[in-house]
Amino acid sequence: MFLAWRRLCTLSSRPEFLKTVCASKILGLSTFAKMSLKFKNAKRIEGLDSNVWIEFTKLAADPSVVNLGHGLPDISPPIYVKEELSKIAAIDNLNQYTWAFGHPSLVKALSCLYEKFYQNQINPTEEILVTVGAYGSLFNAIQGLIDEGDEVIVIVPFYDCYESMLRMAGATPVFVPLRCKPVDGKKCSSSDWTLDPQELASKFNSKTKAIMLNTPHNPLGKVYTKEELQVIADLCIKYDTLCISDEVYEWLVYPGNKHFKIATFPGMWERTITIGSAGKTFSVTGWRLGWSIGPKHLIKHLQTVQQNTVCTCATPLQEALAQALWIDIKRMDDPECYFNSLPKELEVKRDRMVHLLESVGLKPIVPDGGYFIIADVSLLDVDLFDMKDSNEPYDYKFVKWMIKNKKLSAIPVSAFCNEETKLQFEKFVRFCFIKKDSTLDAAEEILKAWSRQNS
Ligand code: PMP
Repeated sequence: MFLAWRRLCTLSSRPEFLKTVCASKILGLSTFAKMSLKFKNAKRIEGLDSNVWIEFTKLAADPSVVNLGHGLPDISPPIYVKEELSKIAAIDNLNQYTWAFGHPSLVKALSCLYEKFYQNQINPTEEILVTVGAYGSLFNAIQGLIDEGDEVIVIVPFYDCYESMLRMAGATPVFVPLRCKPVDGKKCSSSDWTLDPQELASKFNSKTKAIMLNTPHNPLGKVYTKEELQVIADLCIKYDTLCISDEVYEWLVYPGNKHFKIATFPGMWERTITIGSAGKTFSVTGWRLGWSIGPKHLIKHLQTVQQNTVCTCATPLQEALAQALWIDIKRMDDPECYFNSLPKELEVKRDRMVHLLESVGLKPIVPDGGYFIIADVSLLDVDLFDMKDSNEPYDYKFVKWMIKNKKLSAIPVSAFCNEETKLQFEKFVRFCFIKKDSTLDAAEEILKAWSRQNS
């Protein structure tokens, strides 16, 4: 028996876990049964193992698939942004750790940039925290400020990690949906999706710790108006609630709309964390840099999370980002400033996607901001008989079918919903349009051929 066990351990190159499983089977030991409880996931991540990005990135990995799924620009980032990064690797001290809460030149550039939008000056070391992407900011804010049992209002649809991060913190998300106003045959726009102020107010109570806000919105592209934000601000003040405002698409707003920062509304600075992203600002999602801006009494708790988790972000990337920001800060009113040129470039792509989706008989919801467009695909009447056994929402089945049969990928919108509202959105899929013209050409070819087949 002992020999059999030794042989197993020596021969197997598998991890200790598998050896234990095999050994317990061979030797009839109860060791594994006892140890297996210790291998179990921590309760805080229970039920959070599936993830739409992991699942659909894998499905769309085949290079023959035209990927309009993941929000991943395939256009080139601005040349000066790439040049700044390539210069920095040669500077020795910029290859070492920097300040935990943000590289000095970057926090200085961010404070100079955002001072243009806030009434107050922003202290670079106490009111800004540089993080690993906007994800890092969301994580630090939720871990640093939200307690077990706290209620947090989440507007549906929502960027999917809000719910998971809140559940990891032991909080109770309280969902409130955006509802579509009747549009009487005209084009449907993201501004037709609004919160019912009474319904929103009914979700606030003394246990409400925070509200998660996202403007411009992913996936709808909604840009909240000043009046809509005022309703939210009034409720935050009335119920003494924090606001975590995810503004990663802040520069991507199309004509006729304006981005407002809720932190600049009276009484909101002291209760708001505003989140930005280098990935969205300069089309460099792989740089994984983001930032939180807010009052010292809130930011210090996010700093505590950061110093005990990731510690500090990559120095060369922070320095390159600082230099790139300085270039654009000096020419903010110039059409060449990337904050102005990218939305112009994307407006053309958005309009192209609207026409394309309409030309194949779909009714897209025209986004006022961001780089996603959603459309009700049930009108295509695809026969999903092959997938009749799957109990996934319609949009999951549809996108899987589309990737397999049409070589086109998108993201199911029910991934941005809680369990109870999935049905309301399961006919919608999200297409990303921050793509080269050649990628959009390939998508057009697929959709047009599909439409010809159907007619
Ligand atoms: N918030 C929203 C609304 C997003 O769409 C994304 C990225 N898709 C993030 C946060 C995360 O941004 P980052 O890549 O900077 O972590």
